[in-house]
Amino acid sequence: MSDPKRVDGLLIGRFQPFHLGHLEVVRKIARECDELIIGIGSAQISHTLDNPFTAGERHLMISRALREDSIRDFFLVPIVDINQYGIWVSHVRSMVPPFERVYTNNPLTKRLFREAGYEVSASPMFNRSQYSGTEIRRRMIAGDDWRGYVPRAVAEVIDTIDGVRRLRDLAGKGEPDA
Ligand code: ATP
Ligand code: MG
Repeated sequence: MSDPKRVDGLLIGRFQPFHLGHLEVVRKIARECDELIIGIGSAQISHTLDNPFTAGERHLMISRALREDSIRDFFLVPIVDINQYGIWVSHVRSMVPPFERVYTNNPLTKRLFREAGYEVSASPMFNRSQYSGTEIRRRMIAGDDWRGYVPRAVAEVIDTIDGVRRLRDLAGKGEPDA
């Protein structure tokens, strides 16, 4: 039975990688909701320029970053794409614990969850010119600073998996093999 006063919040993203803008939204959800659920979208995709990291690597980045931020109570759920918008919400619902509110700025995600009767909360964009997955991946490939835009724990995971080299290789800019 669901408690009518209870609000559990869902954030869905690809988190390629999880950055400080995501962390701000997570902090907001943790303040506003009883339970925090994070869906790791496009979970089946990795090793591409737009989606360099595996679901497992993203899981590690997010869980370490949240623990480092003293957020301990959360569910992290990988969600694979189904490429059929009409049943996307049911698919998500089948994968995650019950939730009442969805936090997203994506117009299609907003529409799909609203049509399904969910409360949708648009969160403000924090420092979007820098806190953007696309911009951070561009910086990694270009050899510019990117560490300042992600939680420290995320940078550590990316270093451990040699993530920047992976991305540069995918972009055709890696070091030539010996
Ligand atoms: P990409 O550029 O790869 O699409 P992204 O930074 O947009 O990466 P996503 O994983 O696509 O990150 O976004 C997940 C969710 O986080 C979306 O709802 C998005 O609007 C939100 N979000 C992304 N960046 C910010 C930010 N700087 N401030 C607040 N919310 C953000
Ligand atoms: Mg995005």
